[in-house]
Amino acid sequence: MTTKSSRGKRSGSRGNRREDKPVDLSHLPVAKNEEYEAEIIGIGHNGEGVGRVDGFTLFIPGALPGERVLVKILKLKKQYGYGKLLKVLEASSERVNASCEIYDKCGGCQLQHLDYEAQIRWKRQFVVDNLERIGKLKVAGQDEADDSDASKDGIVVYPTLGMEDPWRYRNKAQVPIGEEQGGLVGGFYAQGSHRIVDMDKCLIQHEDNDEVITKIKEIGNRLGITAYNEETHAGLLRHVVIKVGFTTGEMMVVLITNGSRIPNQEQWIEEIREALPKVVSICHNVNKERTNVIFGAETRVIWGQEHIYDYIGDVKFAISARSFYQVNPIQTEVLYRKALEYAALSGDEVVVDAYCGIGTISLFLAQHASKVYGVEIVPEAIADATRNAELNEITNVSFDVGAAEDVFPKWYDAGVRADVVVVDPPRKGCDEALIESILAMRPKRVVYVSCSASTLARDLRMLEDGGYVTKVVQPVDMFPHTVHVEAVVLLVRREV
Ligand code: SAH
Repeated sequence: MTTKSSRGKRSGSRGNRREDKPVDLSHLPVAKNEEYEAEIIGIGHNGEGVGRVDGFTLFIPGALPGERVLVKILKLKKQYGYGKLLKVLEASSERVNASCEIYDKCGGCQLQHLDYEAQIRWKRQFVVDNLERIGKLKVAGQDEADDSDASKDGIVVYPTLGMEDPWRYRNKAQVPIGEEQGGLVGGFYAQGSHRIVDMDKCLIQHEDNDEVITKIKEIGNRLGITAYNEETHAGLLRHVVIKVGFTTGEMMVVLITNGSRIPNQEQWIEEIREALPKVVSICHNVNKERTNVIFGAETRVIWGQEHIYDYIGDVKFAISARSFYQVNPIQTEVLYRKALEYAALSGDEVVVDAYCGIGTISLFLAQHASKVYGVEIVPEAIADATRNAELNEITNVSFDVGAAEDVFPKWYDAGVRADVVVVDPPRKGCDEALIESILAMRPKRVVYVSCSASTLARDLRMLEDGGYVTKVVQPVDMFPHTVHVEAVVLLVRREV
């Protein structure tokens, strides 16, 4: 019989356990609604602390590794449970006060309570753990990663490239608009709900974006626009989307309404122009659907330019209301420079960029290659990619619309043989058929840009089994204070 005091509490709370599930949880060392002391041993993939009580695993948002905390159990499953952090009994030396006043309410950031250096160390370790557990790959020790002479014994996972100033890095804000006591509010949905909470500053947004949102709310209040209400489907203004080009300073405002007209449109334009001189483009998007999706199908430019412009390195990009563009332009350049370095282009190579989006990586590499082929599933993105190629007078690229896994075999049949294949898939990773096509094409190098360490690890395993060796992995922090982890990986074909 265990002597832990926590055990004694269990019997008293049996009646509180979930009645709807017939699963027997009586053997567990913890019970719902009771309080326990937990030791925190790790960080889970949503940024929550992973703790143990009597060997039982608990996920506890806000707790950090090395801490001892008081936790109340909220929910139990057979193998693990969820708890609410009541008190930190012994704090980690890496704990810091979150800089943002609304950190606890918002949920947009998950790691602000962890020192930034520790955040990026954790991101590296997260990649390592995934490579080892899911990919069954051998990772070299941290010493080798610190040493620029890459070791041959295992994959070298370098320390994460973080930001010098990890704040104010986002170039795009998408703000839901609501109404409170007759006035417009705009900010974010309170965690786990659809209640809109007002916000005047978001510390990971470009400062100009904050200013625009504040002014738009003021203008809206003056001109008397109604805010959309999700439940009643009444009201007009649903979202305001703001974009800023970090290198050009140009800004775009998109008003998304549940109706085809903006009342007093001319006054809106006049007031925005007067209050916000950096805005060079004002767009109106109509979304009358009952949906969480922000944009509707119809977008009109109501004043100014159709695009704002930005640069990554010396490549210029036109960004429209709907185009996808990386949200952290500073780290995007760091990421692409790594991809370029790993591609090791001499100027003669044929490169394939699968999942090319608006052609960002393709155009970044094209200046150093003989020919680049890009493929992307969204037709509008390919239209942007083509326009961006023209804008930069880059002529050695060609873009195709389609699923990478379908287009690759067609290219192969048409005689395309890539020296380097770059993939930058969404979180679900590469389609298996695409990996098979890459193996069939036998490029010398594969550069894998990943936003999900688990699918990366799975895909690396397939590439390894197909004759490639994973050499180096470089995590890049694209989203400081959040749990998102991005990495660039170099694989080379094994010599036969
Ligand atoms: N490399 C680009 C975009 C990466 S995001 C950049 O850095 O900006 C991943 C892209 O893959 C998205 O644009 C998405 O539309 C596209 N995509 C998703 N599934 C795809 C598939 N099966 N084939 C080709 N592209 C796909």
